[in-house]
Amino acid sequence: MHSSRCAKRAFIPISAALLLFGCARPRPVPEKYGLHIGTTHRAVLQRAIAITNTILGPSAVVTLRATDRERRGATVYLVRGAQLGDTEYCFVPQGESCVFVNDAAFDGAMHLFSGHAGSELSVPPEQLLALMLLHETGHLANHDGGSYTPPSRLALDDVTATMNVDKSRELRADAHAIRAIREAFTPGQPMPRFLAAGDLVRAVANISWNLSSRRAIDDFAANALRDQRLFLDEGYTHPNFELRFLIMNDQLQSTPESRALLADFVAGRQSTATPKSLLGIPSLMDAH
Ligand SMILES: [Zn+2]
Repeated sequence: MHSSRCAKRAFIPISAALLLFGCARPRPVPEKYGLHIGTTHRAVLQRAIAITNTILGPSAVVTLRATDRERRGATVYLVRGAQLGDTEYCFVPQGESCVFVNDAAFDGAMHLFSGHAGSELSVPPEQLLALMLLHETGHLANHDGGSYTPPSRLALDDVTATMNVDKSRELRADAHAIRAIREAFTPGQPMPRFLAAGDLVRAVANISWNLSSRRAIDDFAANALRDQRLFLDEGYTHPNFELRFLIMNDQLQSTPESRALLADFVAGRQSTATPKSLLGIPSLMDAH
């Protein structure tokens, strides 16, 4: 009798505590934004989170987790919702410390960044998503998620020697990702970390190649004429994807070729750039 009464007494506070804990548990962030949880790319996301955390290493200030139940890290939610744009692939909502990955847009991201024809180069989906997630850990570390930077005129010096990327939150988040990859891709690191970083170095090179070769081949005439639509930023939100990948590729490769590709692109952004002749002979504008 006695022992069962004790057990009963003990049970009440425990159950009350559990109830309280249950009530205090915040509802999942996606609900606040009218989003629901996606499932299509869940396996890809889990692999991408594992790659991201491997590269960030155990001492990173910001790491990621797939669910709230894991002890440590910012939660990454795979979300769906009609209000999300087709190119809103991945972002940190304003004022939150979690990451949303747009389940419905990911196939579009693969189509844009990974190769799908001719001489283009393929990028595994989990590596593309890991690159995006590393970028988001930059926003989380800088506490600037959800905010966009207006397009800015960037000189080559801004994006190379000085890596003075303060003009753009997006480039700053990219720089965070590149620093993590470079740190992981140094001899002496644990082999899984080193190999995961090597995969992403190759993924950045392949994506840069895909974007630049499409501009050179698919948009041959527009590129030769320095059509600004190829070189300027995507609306008011993000710096041009090709520019961003050329910067990241140059930071990782540091070769004369990676610098020349970047320099050529930055020159193409200057509205005063002299259009090149399509036929390789001096154009009328060159003559003056
Ligand atoms: Zn961003």
